[in-house]
Amino acid sequence: MKICFASHNLNKVREIAELSPSGIEVVGLTDLGLHEEIEETGSTLEENSEIKARYVYEKCEIPVFADDSGLEVKALNGAPGVISARYAGIERDNGKNIALLLKNLEGINDTTAQFRTVITFINAGTEVQFEGIVKGKIQRELQGKNGFGYDPIFVPDGFDQTFAEMEPEEKNRLSHRAKAFQKLLSYLGELNG
Ligand code: IMP
Repeated sequence: MKICFASHNLNKVREIAELSPSGIEVVGLTDLGLHEEIEETGSTLEENSEIKARYVYEKCEIPVFADDSGLEVKALNGAPGVISARYAGIERDNGKNIALLLKNLEGINDTTAQFRTVITFINAGTEVQFEGIVKGKIQRELQGKNGFGYDPIFVPDGFDQTFAEMEPEEKNRLSHRAKAFQKLLSYLGELNG
């Protein structure tokens, strides 16, 4: 069975392809000749992952899944959430996003937060979503050089290091994305018999 991962990111596609059960071939948007950016116009992670999966399904009519992730800070009512990548503007600048988040948390003691991923899988007549969450806290001082996005200020529960201080393998084992993908992969394993 050939399944499309609605992503242009070759590293992400390869990583999931390697984890997939035998009998399932995961291909990316580039492999299908789809080079355009899919506009993320939804107001939730659920909507955006569905928009991306649906777009590809309507064009290619093969089973497809798409993911969308964000950082949700409790004291900010779940912000930056679905706009995590462009919190401080359309230039998607990680440094500016972090600076704005820390500014908005000034004077607030409770820095409880979570990263959340939603995956939508679509196949003929079926649409299912899977969620992965990693809970933690925002730290006001940036630490670590690994990872991306908000990693230098996110400390997962049970650890005293930020995601950016962890080895990539360790973060990838714990992460919201990994948890959502594990759920998808076990679903695909069952589908594949
Ligand atoms: P995407 O849906 O995976 O592209 O994630 C959207 C945005 O959420 C990213 O651009 C980051 O700002 C933030 N984000 C998602 N996952 C992570 C993560 O694992 N570490 C840090 N930031 C993340």
